[in-house]
Amino acid sequence: MTDEKESGALQGAHLDTLAVRAGIARTGEGEHSEPIFLTSSYVFDNAADAAARFAGTAGGNVYSRYTNPSVRSFEQRIAALEGGESAVGTASGMAAILSTCMALLKRGDHVVCSRDVFGTTVNLFSRYMEKFGVEVSFVPLLQLDAWRDALRANTAMLFVETPSNPLCEVADLAALSALARDNGALLVVDNCFCTPALQTPLALGADIVVHSATKYLDGQGRCVGGAVVGSAALMEEVMTFLRTCGPTMSAFNAWVFLKGLETLRLRMEAHSRSALELATWLQQQPAVEQVFYAGLPDHPGHELACRQQRAFGGVLSFKVQGGRQQAWDFIDAVRIMSLTANLGDAKTTIVHPASTTHGRLTAQQREEAGIGDNLVRVAVGLEHVDDLRADLQRGFAALG
Ligand SMILES: *Cc1c(COP(=O)(O)O)cnc(C)c1O
Repeated sequence: MTDEKESGALQGAHLDTLAVRAGIARTGEGEHSEPIFLTSSYVFDNAADAAARFAGTAGGNVYSRYTNPSVRSFEQRIAALEGGESAVGTASGMAAILSTCMALLKRGDHVVCSRDVFGTTVNLFSRYMEKFGVEVSFVPLLQLDAWRDALRANTAMLFVETPSNPLCEVADLAALSALARDNGALLVVDNCFCTPALQTPLALGADIVVHSATKYLDGQGRCVGGAVVGSAALMEEVMTFLRTCGPTMSAFNAWVFLKGLETLRLRMEAHSRSALELATWLQQQPAVEQVFYAGLPDHPGHELACRQQRAFGGVLSFKVQGGRQQAWDFIDAVRIMSLTANLGDAKTTIVHPASTTHGRLTAQQREEAGIGDNLVRVAVGLEHVDDLRADLQRGFAALG
């Protein structure tokens, strides 16, 4: 039971208001905050009601693989924040991407995908979509000509992630939207790094946004989940795949993500502020060769990021002088930052991309993607920035 009085007043409300109030499902017990609906099935009023709900001629829940009020609340809230008509909660970020592909692609279709997407996304396309007869071309994120040249008559989808991981390259979403539209293809954007607090791809012409809710939407590194957002018609297709094939979001996780969304903008601003401060400081360190963060005025994506994003996010990377050994020495010397490949957490994380997140690429692929052996990635958390700077100092001290 959605609170009608409240939801009616939310038309055109600001992101901060929607983040706290959109999609609340009250039970009639008078509870103020969102309950968790931990139930797998639902009781029908009578036999006729059961028949009507199964036939879809009456509303109401049937079974939690189909609908669950906690998941529905999360879906309504993330849809409101992204400015989409509808959303679908999924078991993980990869389940969001898989569900989008399975629902909207068919054998014989062609996909153009940025080369610089999450590694598992590359595997999903090259190992599984190809296996089912969907051809995939990978193109460098920034080369619009390469995207254009890769298009074919059967291109059904363009898939992009911006800013990229770990070099923070920024793709022009309005230009890619136009390219997709002119060719009758869908533009799908993985908005994991910015979240709707910093970037709303649908407003720039994208058709679908996918999320790993595991990252900033949760924001505290507790749950794995995902979301797909877009038009009601497209989401109906994705929902049908999900109900049939099962990678749905759990009610408990949906409740955690609902809590996360309430503080999303505040957190994204704090992550962005500290990341910019550290990136600027890192640029001045003699043992740093190069810093990659779109908030820096000399980053090639800076101008575009200023137009397309509200801030620059929490992920930055930098090259230390030397090679793999120096990068590893640096990482092993920090004591506050967690050595883990995750990001989007209140706790700052540090990782060596070349030997972990991008370790499955060949040396030549890494070279082409600009991921050197001396590159270190930091996903800046919510600790005090002075303590993080002191921690990075420990890294530099270890380099002698
Ligand atoms: C983590 C991540 C994913 C995958 O999400 P899971 O929740 O781990 O399945 C997809 N895209 C990006 C950009 C990610 O960082």
